[in-house]
Amino acid sequence: MYHFSRAIYRELEDEILEDHPLQAGLTNHERVLRACEAAIHRLATDMHYFAKPTKTLFNDIRVYFPMSAQLRVYKIVDRYMTFARDYFASNPMAERMECRATTRRGTPCQRSPLPHNGYCPSHQHLAETEDIPIAA
Ligand SMILES: [Zn+2]
Repeated sequence: MYHFSRAIYRELEDEILEDHPLQAGLTNHERVLRACEAAIHRLATDMHYFAKPTKTLFNDIRVYFPMSAQLRVYKIVDRYMTFARDYFASNPMAERMECRATTRRGTPCQRSPLPHNGYCPSHQHLAETEDIPIAA
């Protein structure tokens, strides 16, 4: 899902303000990228409670851009957030993690996998027999 946030960032990066000389911690570029990632992640996982994604992300990052770029930044944010929202709405599972196993009925298992091997808790045995096809 992070190709959306990287795409936003790539369109915006040329406009990002120079870091303040006394600024500590993250650079402006890192802050913008992280804000984009957070917004896209929230959109993908919590769309129904994320009422104004464009406004939220724009408000998070606008301080890192000059006044002259604000309108352009807003339009880019709006374009990508609208696109991402439509995408997540029509592909609800496409970018989510799903268990890699197939159920007895031949449909993909849709339970959440454990991150270390991509199988849900009830299909953990498949991780050990990775190369042997076993009906789940
Ligand atoms: Zn499973």
